[in-house]
Amino acid sequence: MTAAAETLLFAPRPQPSVAVAGTTARFPVGRIFCVGRNYADHAKEMGAEVDREAPFYFIKDTGSLTASGATVPYPQGTKDFHHEMEFVVAIGAAAFEIPVERALDVVFGYAAGLDMTRRDLQAAAKAKGKPWDFAKNFERAAVIAPIVEKAAFGAVGHQHIGLAVGGTARQSSHLDEMVWSVPELIAHLSRFYRLAPGDLIYTGTPAGVGPVVPGDHIRGEIDGLPPVELTIAPAETV
Ligand code: MN
Repeated sequence: MTAAAETLLFAPRPQPSVAVAGTTARFPVGRIFCVGRNYADHAKEMGAEVDREAPFYFIKDTGSLTASGATVPYPQGTKDFHHEMEFVVAIGAAAFEIPVERALDVVFGYAAGLDMTRRDLQAAAKAKGKPWDFAKNFERAAVIAPIVEKAAFGAVGHQHIGLAVGGTARQSSHLDEMVWSVPELIAHLSRFYRLAPGDLIYTGTPAGVGPVVPGDHIRGEIDGLPPVELTIAPAETV
């Protein structure tokens, strides 16, 4: 058996990638890590406490990635589809057991993103101690706007992060209200994974998450980044 004689049975899925603002380059995405309960006010609205012992995560596969500006159908399997506005970190270099002091060295840039969530499935999973995958990892559930390179964005600090549905404000906070900072998250994750160029980290959502319905237009903004937008269409039929 020679490798040259082997063929793929069908075309592999295309490599998902994200636009880089102001360039023709695209950022090829490897993994999508998402942080849970990283703003105290959101943890409270979910009936939970912030855990200062360690951050926790879930993962979305790259098949969930969707470019800002898309129109997506209301997903199957839910009656409570929620928006979560998030600051996204794009990793541009390898990191394994990196100290907090050097963690920002591996950041390529930042983007505005939406961690779209089937909230009713998450609540059911939580109630029985089951995994969150069905609530968080599904087609078109990781929305992302173009990435702005680290130097162009500058330091992560008091930038405003907010989201509106149909022009009505729903979420509003500042990046310095995150429980775990960007360097802390990178350093912590790098003790469990060999972070690699192409990895994304969705850093959690502030309070004000809520449902969307077909016809809604979501617009999320973070100072210094292109906005992330999403329009909800009626559910698909077979
Ligand atoms: Mn989230």
